[in-house]
Amino acid sequence: MVVGILALQGSFNEHISALRRLGVKGVEIRKPEQLQDVTSLIIPGGESTTMAKLAEYHNLFPALREFVQMGKPVWGTCAGLIFLANKATGQKTGGQELVGGLDCTVHRNFFGSQIQSFEAELSIPEIAAKEGGPPIFRGVFIRAPGILDVGPGVEVLADIPVPFDKASSSDLGIQSPEENTHSEKKVIVAVRQGNLLATAFHPELTADGRWHTYFLKMAGEVGEGALCCRSTSVED
Ligand code: GLN
Repeated sequence: MVVGILALQGSFNEHISALRRLGVKGVEIRKPEQLQDVTSLIIPGGESTTMAKLAEYHNLFPALREFVQMGKPVWGTCAGLIFLANKATGQKTGGQELVGGLDCTVHRNFFGSQIQSFEAELSIPEIAAKEGGPPIFRGVFIRAPGILDVGPGVEVLADIPVPFDKASSSDLGIQSPEENTHSEKKVIVAVRQGNLLATAFHPELTADGRWHTYFLKMAGEVGEGALCCRSTSVED
């Protein structure tokens, strides 16, 4: 069993290092035929329009769609989440080609521009229950997307409060705090739909290997409990 990492652009090296820390080899994918050699795939963060242009240039979209449609496990982080979404909205999204398969609408650059990137503590008891450790995970959000809505087959793993901004909230139909004093608006940042996993943030940029462990087990790349003793050994 081999984990592929789409290696056109973005944080593919960081994913490969995160897998190596768990004792798992990741294989860089740049050509359609290379997808035949892997049993699961990570689509990293980066810049989704650039990544889409490169994927188009290398004729990767048909093979990526087939990979998803065959039910093979795929994890998209940040730009990778945008790739997997059935629909993308937000500034400069027009005409952007998507792989699709994940029944959700994603909003590109939901939290604003590069300088509005941030880190947040995410409470995800489901993942901690499976992978151990504290229920809090560090979320690194870099010009991150947000998931606006999900279909019935999609499990929401994490959401966070929307940082209120009148300009963008009116586009999104989010009520202002004056109109909405009773409920806090939240945006979804991690989901799972069968064999598809998607996070708006970057677990590969933290030392916490639990998201990678979760994906490897979900993908059947390792048996339950196989990684529990190795998750803290750093080989880099
Ligand atoms: N905002 C980027 C995009 O739309 C994604 C950012 C990321 O992957 N860190 O492609």
